[in-house]
Amino acid sequence: MAAVDLKQPADVTSQPELRQQLVDCIRMLEQSDIIDYNGHCSIRLDDHRILINIGSCQRSRLTAEDICTIDLEANQIEGKGNAPLERHLHCGIYRVRPDVKAIVHAHPKWSLVYPVPVLDSPNSINNRAMADRLAATLGDRPAALMKSHGAVTVGKDIVEAFVLANYMEENAYRQYMALQIGRPYSFSEEEVALCREKLWNAGLFKRTWDHFRAKLG
Ligand SMILES: [Zn+2]
Repeated sequence: MAAVDLKQPADVTSQPELRQQLVDCIRMLEQSDIIDYNGHCSIRLDDHRILINIGSCQRSRLTAEDICTIDLEANQIEGKGNAPLERHLHCGIYRVRPDVKAIVHAHPKWSLVYPVPVLDSPNSINNRAMADRLAATLGDRPAALMKSHGAVTVGKDIVEAFVLANYMEENAYRQYMALQIGRPYSFSEEEVALCREKLWNAGLFKRTWDHFRAKLG
């Protein structure tokens, strides 16, 4: 009978799958031009550990080897390269949002869309104080923007965080293009609520994920 290592966390068997999901997410965001040579995504493993891509990796050719583990205080636990300087962004949100299991941070071209909250600072989220400010700006919402910097989306899993980043960029682009030819139609609060009720579901999020995942080949 094989010996059981009682120190191993219960989720250890799912780690390879979570690492692969993180790899796929970042590669899909790179292919969609949402992430470039910067940008990072993470998955919460448990109350103490976070999977995140290393800062120096090539996002277009990412593999599971480019994923490292940090704790909620931004200390690196494991990995072949260093976690990104803005790892604090992830830690700050996970510390105050137990519902959040995955985070996407990117510097996209178009994402500037009402009524997403905006952090009133262009500074990098590379220390605890800035991370706490961003987490407070995000509050209990699924997305926030950082002035002249970028965007963050969060979700109950990496599929949700990925899809929200994708939707935000797509909607911001369409809003910008619509502004070039006139006054865009604004949804009423009732219409927004109805859209959320009809479209915010795991099945449609999975369909969006699968669409982009298939393009990776
Ligand atoms: Zn950034």
